[in-house]
Amino acid sequence: MIEKPGILSATLTEFIKFLKQENIKKFFFVYDFEKKNLKASHPQLQPVADFFIDDKRDFIEHEGWFCKISDEYDMLLGAFIHRTNRGQAAGGVRYWSYDTIEDYFRDGLRLGAGMTFKNALAGLWWGGGKGVIAHNPEFDKLNPEIRSKIYREYGLFMSTLNGCYVTAEDVGTSVEDMANVFSGTRFTTCIPPKFGGSGNPSTPTAMGIISGMEAALEFLQMGTLKDKTVAIQGMGHVGEPLIQFLFEKNVIKVVGTDINPAHIGYVKKKFSGKNIDCRLVKKNDLSIFSEECDIFSPNATGAILNKKTTPLLKAKIVCGAANNQLEDMHSDGKLLHDRGIIYVPDFLTNRMGIVTCANEQYGYVDNDPLIQDHFSRDWEHSIFNSAKQVLKESKEKNIPTAEIALKIADELSRVNHPLFGHRGKEIIKSLVVNNWHLY
Ligand code: NAD
Repeated sequence: MIEKPGILSATLTEFIKFLKQENIKKFFFVYDFEKKNLKASHPQLQPVADFFIDDKRDFIEHEGWFCKISDEYDMLLGAFIHRTNRGQAAGGVRYWSYDTIEDYFRDGLRLGAGMTFKNALAGLWWGGGKGVIAHNPEFDKLNPEIRSKIYREYGLFMSTLNGCYVTAEDVGTSVEDMANVFSGTRFTTCIPPKFGGSGNPSTPTAMGIISGMEAALEFLQMGTLKDKTVAIQGMGHVGEPLIQFLFEKNVIKVVGTDINPAHIGYVKKKFSGKNIDCRLVKKNDLSIFSEECDIFSPNATGAILNKKTTPLLKAKIVCGAANNQLEDMHSDGKLLHDRGIIYVPDFLTNRMGIVTCANEQYGYVDNDPLIQDHFSRDWEHSIFNSAKQVLKESKEKNIPTAEIALKIADELSRVNHPLFGHRGKEIIKSLVVNNWHLY
């Protein structure tokens, strides 16, 4: 086991200071599939590459990651590209703060691989990757001028990558920010509708969650959503239309919690007269987990299914939009499995965000079949059919659902694009050959 290089424990500011001392403005780590090694752009960074390839926790043969110090703000702009067999890497750009540079790299690597699996399972002809801007706390994150400059710069940074990664909106990034990204590159989606973007995907995302719930109910031979009770954590952009769809499907009762009084007020008003119990709670309140219900739907934050909460669950099914619901992908998935609770993996059922924006450049038609397919019962990669396949294999093999979904997604993600082949890898090769890091 290779010892961790000290530089990985540096804060963002310390790391940027180190890079500047070494005259490094841009750097990359690129995987050599033949030699099976990870090559750093600069010898000073090679120990970091050697550590990640040896460590194996988050580096899973990522094709490469590229970073640049922002011209103005001592922040890092990064693109973490996992796998591009199915097409250019696609996934949003996160704007986030990290304690150490290791945390930053790990988050980018994990998120990038997560997009590979989400996109492949959705049958999209896109690979997987993620952008991450590491915020420097010396600057005000909400300052419009800083945001405008940093996202414009991110757009220009994207253009230097020649299209091996196509970015989108993500946590910490807004549609207005995407307009700034768009000003610097063609390699972006999720742009504002006035520029041809697809708009807020939350309603299709909620519809996708309904498909996941229906698949789980049918799998358990519990019938349809009619007369079921659903407990919802988080009634925001996804939670609110989800409640609407649930009542349209004739559920008997909805119990919902939120930490934002405005959202509680809005939902109460919108669904007055319906059998809904809306509760304003504190952030750490766990009451929703032990609610008597058929389905528990997490639509707030991640890592909420863990050793503390899973034993509280009374639901037979967990299905919601929140990203990374399992605190630990393996042990917490197993905990649910061992309790006989059907967990519909989040990255399977919450795909509609990326689905709606990924193909923006192909234009729009009413009731777009390329979107509707995901809600159908006919298409093999629809949410309903993917979920049924995962639940069936999970039962047959006695393996937790998330692991099965990952296995299926991994196989799909290695299929080459029918027209462009594995072009992303070629683009990365050309960036390396042309010394991307020096210009
Ligand atoms: P949102 O911010 O609009 O809604 C989240 C809601 O959860 C808010 O109302 C917030 O007050 C509430 N909340 C936060 N912590 C809570 C807690 N501890 N208990 C109860 N309520 C809490 O976000 P959203 O767009 O509705 O997305 C919800 C989740 O789904 C997020 O994890 C997001 O990453 C994920 N997701 C969303 C989409 C999409 O299309 N919007 C797509 C894929 C995944």
